[in-house]
Amino acid sequence: MHDSNSRASDRFDPQDFDRVLSSMCTRTHPEAAAMARRFMDDSPALPEVYETVVELERRAVDLLGEVVGLDEPHGYVTTGGTEANIQAMRTARALGDTEAPNAVGSEALHFGFVKAADMLDVQLRLAPTDEDNRVDLTEVRRLADEDTVLVVGVAGTTEYGIVEPIPELGEIAASVDAQFHVDAAYGGFFLPATDHDWQFGHAPVDTMTIDPHKAGQAAIPAGGFLARDVEMLDALAVDTPYLERTSEATLTTTRSGAGPASTYAALEALWPDGYEAAYERERANAEWLADAFRERGYDVVDPELTIVAADVPNDVFERLSEKGWRILRTGEDELRVVCMPHVTREMLESFVADLDAVREETTGGAAA
Ligand SMILES: *Cc1c(COP(=O)(O)O)cnc(C)c1O
Repeated sequence: MHDSNSRASDRFDPQDFDRVLSSMCTRTHPEAAAMARRFMDDSPALPEVYETVVELERRAVDLLGEVVGLDEPHGYVTTGGTEANIQAMRTARALGDTEAPNAVGSEALHFGFVKAADMLDVQLRLAPTDEDNRVDLTEVRRLADEDTVLVVGVAGTTEYGIVEPIPELGEIAASVDAQFHVDAAYGGFFLPATDHDWQFGHAPVDTMTIDPHKAGQAAIPAGGFLARDVEMLDALAVDTPYLERTSEATLTTTRSGAGPASTYAALEALWPDGYEAAYERERANAEWLADAFRERGYDVVDPELTIVAADVPNDVFERLSEKGWRILRTGEDELRVVCMPHVTREMLESFVADLDAVREETTGGAAA
């Protein structure tokens, strides 16, 4: 019921992160939060009016270029990974030379690609993954043909954090003359601290998605769309008859300055050492939790980055939810924990203590 005597801000509280275990979003870095608040009213869509936020976006893109191994990056701060992936497919369709375009990737692609394919009338061809959740490259090769305009590789899948074989997928893209896009929405801020081949310097990557509002610790909405060549951005541009500028390559028009401003602030504060330290911590936490599940007899999908999935019985899962843990399942019904900056060791210890208590209460402690 509406109470006109009290303010919404007195009545509603945002989710407390202390029990959030299955989200790819996390607490915004304090400096990024401050910049998000300062620039939320400034829209980069009107550079003639809001000059400073446009400069912040330019700097954010330059720093994102460093993260993804691109000396002269072209791109912008999107509303998220979904928009960046839509834009990648849009570029590929615009530059591809076919009446019946298709895009090829693995089953592990983010569902946002289904939206992109639907809107752009591109056929989406997904190769199966094996029992270790790895893409079948032979199948990708088979699916790619002369009408393939885009091949997508995921550098850190949403469900398990798996880094797909980016150089090999890049070769397949080149063999059919298709654009090669890497979706590093989740993995992009972890991978620089690893030995994986995933970025522009490691493979013939054309476009990339990287999400500052996930492990980048920027405020929502902040995704990143980056391209090797300016032609790829130009392919997205439409005429803007009402504006002083002649064209615009973004998907949305009015945009929050919170994304670009907080992305720049987060990168300035954390790139590269802060992100590396965060990754080491989150990776160690993921390993620790995987061991804890294993010691209790559960099947565990080994964490490749910071995601742990364990085959925990339904009744145990339900009781943990009832205790306030914000947990989700994978498509295979495993309990999936995403170790992000707000997920501390103490938090995981308290989660495992609750897991033990729940095991006592339920099936006599028997594992799956
Ligand atoms: C989260 C994610 C997306 C979608 O990003 P949003 O910012 O939620 O739109 C796309 N791809 C991957 C691999 C992701 O993990």
